[in-house]
Amino acid sequence: MSLESFFDPKSVAIVGASRQKGKVGYEILTNMVASGYEGKIFPVNRSADTVEGLKCYPDLKSIGETPDLALVIVPARFVLGVIEECAEIGTKSVVIITAGFKEIGEEGKKLEEEIIRVARRAGIRIIGPNCLGVVVTATKLNASFGGDLPAVGGTGYLSQSGAMLAAILDTAKANGIGFSSLFSIGNKADVDELDLVQALASDPNTKVIAGYLESITDGNEFVREAERISHDKPILLMKSGGTAAGAKAASSHTGSLAGSEVAYECMFARAGIIRCDSITQQFDFAQAFANQPLPKGANVVVLTNAGGAGIMAADAIERQGLTFAKLSEKTIEQLAANLPAAANLHNPVDVLGDALADRYEFALDVLLDDPGVDSVLVLLTPQAMTEAQGTAEAIARTTQAKPDKPVMACFMGASKVEEGIGVLREAKIPQYDSPEGAVTTIRAMTDYVRWRNQPKRVVKLFPVNRRKVESIIERHLRKNMREIGEAESKEILEAYGFATPKGSIATTADQAANIADQLGYPVVLKIWSPDILHKSDVGGVKVGLKSAQQVRDAFDLMMYRVPKKMPNAHILGVLVQEMCASGREVILGMHRDPHFGPLMMFGMGGVMVEVLKDVAFYLAPLTGDEAKQMLMNTKTYRILQGVRGQEGVDIEAIAEGLQRLSQLVTEFPQIQEMDINPFVVGLPGTTPIAVDARISVEK
Ligand code: ADP
Ligand code: MG
Repeated sequence: MSLESFFDPKSVAIVGASRQKGKVGYEILTNMVASGYEGKIFPVNRSADTVEGLKCYPDLKSIGETPDLALVIVPARFVLGVIEECAEIGTKSVVIITAGFKEIGEEGKKLEEEIIRVARRAGIRIIGPNCLGVVVTATKLNASFGGDLPAVGGTGYLSQSGAMLAAILDTAKANGIGFSSLFSIGNKADVDELDLVQALASDPNTKVIAGYLESITDGNEFVREAERISHDKPILLMKSGGTAAGAKAASSHTGSLAGSEVAYECMFARAGIIRCDSITQQFDFAQAFANQPLPKGANVVVLTNAGGAGIMAADAIERQGLTFAKLSEKTIEQLAANLPAAANLHNPVDVLGDALADRYEFALDVLLDDPGVDSVLVLLTPQAMTEAQGTAEAIARTTQAKPDKPVMACFMGASKVEEGIGVLREAKIPQYDSPEGAVTTIRAMTDYVRWRNQPKRVVKLFPVNRRKVESIIERHLRKNMREIGEAESKEILEAYGFATPKGSIATTADQAANIADQLGYPVVLKIWSPDILHKSDVGGVKVGLKSAQQVRDAFDLMMYRVPKKMPNAHILGVLVQEMCASGREVILGMHRDPHFGPLMMFGMGGVMVEVLKDVAFYLAPLTGDEAKQMLMNTKTYRILQGVRGQEGVDIEAIAEGLQRLSQLVTEFPQIQEMDINPFVVGLPGTTPIAVDARISVEK
């Protein structure tokens, strides 16, 4: 159901309006009046005739017409009655400011559920309870107790914390930053973050969606929708707190390395959401995304009146992985013809300490025409002759005439640049306290553009033997076995097109030697027990056995040693395996996040995974490009490509392995966690081998 009445109500009832200064019911009423809201306001209060000069009603029914929106501020125990009244008179949109529900425990939770039940039956949408309210600048609706109505702007904000919203409003006011609307979502008993992101996506006054979230109600749905919306409007999120995923003890390498933070990172990367670390950064980003065009590429030019500031910017550009724009011959000639001889004509372009506004204006105009420039950062330090205000006006004029490239400003200082900054704000030119802040913003915009321009995601499907996998998993689940050991994990992998070492199970030394004879030497012996997850930890792996005698000896030694280390483990025998040709050992893994689904992992493999932690994650299902991107996000990638005269390995084959694994875990939601470690890869053209694997399943 549409949330339109929250944005543009023709009339608002304030249930619990108060005459007493300092009470929420008073603050909200005075905020509504002071902000100049043009619709009708109906204060509702049983024991007052007028409040702030407005006629007061004892209850909703006595108003005699149906308010589009009701704000509810009465104590928790009366709220249900108010919602029932809303149902009776036909008010469909309600903001419950009152606290004392789910957040206080079982009793509050029951009350909240009862309210939602009544609301659902009557088709009422509820924001809150336990929230700060709603602010919409276009309709001058300040239905909140967060402070004054902010300036009009292109950012629509939603916050899971009312207090954070108050801080945001205050910061925005001090910096003259505008909003289209702000929503405090409180307990999100009905309207949740996704509803609001969707509403802001279709709100014509909102250019950028920003928010502060602590949890996401439906992870999968959120990713899907955010991915769709991000193509039209950037989504900037601050996220704190974790999910339950990290809390559960993990038995796989992948599980122990994937926390809830990783899941959120993956979700943001998939959906094109821009993550912000602080309110300051979020404002830095929001003012640029809302008011400036997006850069076409990563080439940044710096225009400055001071060498030092230029160097700071240059350092930041390098740190953020952006490109220092190389200016064209034509640009340099034009600059040379009009700037003083001492000026630096190359990036950073230095118009010198005595530059007046006209020099900035000329140089900015020339730079914006250079096809090798994607964005401009204008730095200004207040020196003796500097015209901060005039320069700001010059920037405004120039960008109005040439509006296709983003221009950021960093006027450094305080009182001497204050008026200039005021002009920049007026002209919607983002102003930053430091070159770093501006450059980080350009980086965020560049990343976003890259995400938006990536080709449509196409996930490749490989022909596989699903039936086989299904029967192995079913058999384990029927017997209530959660762990699938090495031998059967490999059967599963084979069904999905992986190569595994040949081998069989032996229960005696002679049997082991016989198998080894058939396989051919050298062979590997591995302990076979459902209770031992990491075999080498307990002396349960012996590689490079070259003769039947060595196999027999290794068998006896293993049967003697392993039980000493793990007296309670049920040991079934050993696995005799062909020895794979040497190669690089990598790990391919998956951990299923309860909110966002399968997280794929790639990294440096072997027994040191947890120590080195050189791993990358991505949400399944993976495309070929994403699989390769995962590889590139690790340091291991450099080694795999070949370093110091060593030959590189088959990168494509690893990417294919990741995609096959991604298909497996997508098709079998029973698989909770799994590792292929090591996945041994050799030279290009050779087949990589899944040497060890383990899978854990759940119903
Ligand atoms: P675990 O991880 O339970 O300790 P693995 O089967 O992964 O046991 O074996 C540990 C290490 O032994 C591997 O990382 C690999 O270096 C080596 N290894 C195991 N099996 C083979 C094999 N068939 N061929 C070559 N090396 C192997
Ligand atoms: Mg292993």
